[in-house]
Amino acid sequence: MECQTNKPGVNCSFMTKNGCSFEGGACVPIVEQCEGCGKVTEYEKGKFCTVYPYPALKWKKGHCNFATHVKIEIEKDEAGKKINPLKAAKRASRKR
Ligand code: SF4
Repeated sequence: MECQTNKPGVNCSFMTKNGCSFEGGACVPIVEQCEGCGKVTEYEKGKFCTVYPYPALKWKKGHCNFATHVKIEIEKDEAGKKINPLKAAKRASRKR
């Protein structure tokens, strides 16, 4: 249904006949870390994320996995090859 609260006109899965079903009755504005992300949209009531209703929670344990402005550094070995973190963990567990 179309949002009737903070992002009017936007089709949202939290919107019901009885209003917004998200915790608190509306989505929460972006946090400082979100600045520069391509998923930030400005509305009358402030800046909100287009994909997540509670941005602060996305940044609680590290960086937001939806962020478009964060570059993840890929670890490389001595030969300059990329290290697959899953394979590296598996290898390390075999050595124990
Ligand atoms: S995708 Fe993540 S970083 Fe970007 S606006 Fe949404 S919560 Fe913030």
